[in-house]
Amino acid sequence: MSALQNTVRADVQATQAYVVANATGMVKLDAMENPHELPLALREELAERLKHAALNRYPEPQMPALESALRQAFDIPEDAAVLFGNGSDELIDIVIRTCCMPGDVVLSPVPTFVMYAVSSQWAHARFVGVDFNADLSLNLPALLQAIDAHKPKVVFLAYPNNPTGVAMRKADIEAVIQAAPGLVVVDEAYEAFADESFMPDVLKHPNVLVLRTLSKLGLAGIRLGYAVASKDWISQIDKVRPPYNVNILTRIAAEFALRHHGVLDDQAARLRENRAKLSAALKRLAAPRKGMEVFDSHANFLLFRVPQAQQVFELLKNEGILIKYVGKMHPLLQDCLRVTVSTDAENQSFLTALEVALNQLS
Ligand code: PMP
Repeated sequence: MSALQNTVRADVQATQAYVVANATGMVKLDAMENPHELPLALREELAERLKHAALNRYPEPQMPALESALRQAFDIPEDAAVLFGNGSDELIDIVIRTCCMPGDVVLSPVPTFVMYAVSSQWAHARFVGVDFNADLSLNLPALLQAIDAHKPKVVFLAYPNNPTGVAMRKADIEAVIQAAPGLVVVDEAYEAFADESFMPDVLKHPNVLVLRTLSKLGLAGIRLGYAVASKDWISQIDKVRPPYNVNILTRIAAEFALRHHGVLDDQAARLRENRAKLSAALKRLAAPRKGMEVFDSHANFLLFRVPQAQQVFELLKNEGILIKYVGKMHPLLQDCLRVTVSTDAENQSFLTALEVALNQLS
């Protein structure tokens, strides 16, 4: 055995690396990005600010300007504390490492965002998934039973959920919070596209943290997530956060974009309209086709089921359209594909290629 084989954790060696598909030159509808950029005039103003960034210094430990821009842009309760992360991925990891000793349980309805399980594994926590119902709604009795049986340190509720787009009922979230002995993380990565948020209620319970990100709002490239909870929770989680985890360029860009959040809000509103149009078009394609079904979504993507989904995915890819095949992720997602809602033109390219692929396979 080599030094590497002797040294690298066996579960790391057995793991497939997280592969991000090469999307060069493709219509990229696989990663829930916002297709719109900031307007050129704003980007030029931002470039001017970035020019003055003190790249030779570590960033300041506190981020008052960024936090104040965030509080002005969003509905964060005044008494709640905020913690920033290098994307919400990092915050998921930090929360788990703050709460879990080896063997402790992290619990979530599944299928859901994979990083809850991945970060649990690297922290030696035990991830327990509780299946959604067949229609992808929350199985509340099963979830409550699992909470009772496993006493999880952390429960993750993606609200709305990825990759299904389903938003659970707020009353169900409350029931989970009441039942959970530990922390409940309400992950609102897709909040900009949803009808409701748990943010106004974050301090109404002693064990809730709301997680958000700027990624889906048009700033995926800068990697900024934030956690909102009581000062007590945040001050504990902050101890596990690596110092300087949010770099100076991200701070400047995020603060600038948040000061212009009206632009981002307008883009999200346009994407919500396009979601309705894309969903209606997909449902029209599904109507005469046996085995094709489209799920309603509260996020900036749509999940749909179609026979021979993997072949459909490949045919679209050959046509330069990249979506996500999620059929192997979980039995409930058999033959499912996920497509990000984009501009009218990109949505139309996708629909045209999809119709050709479906006709070819039928
Ligand atoms: N939560 C959910 C539910 C997600 O779908 C994603 C990204 N796909 C994230 C968190 C992570 O987002 P980011 O790290 O870009 O902030």
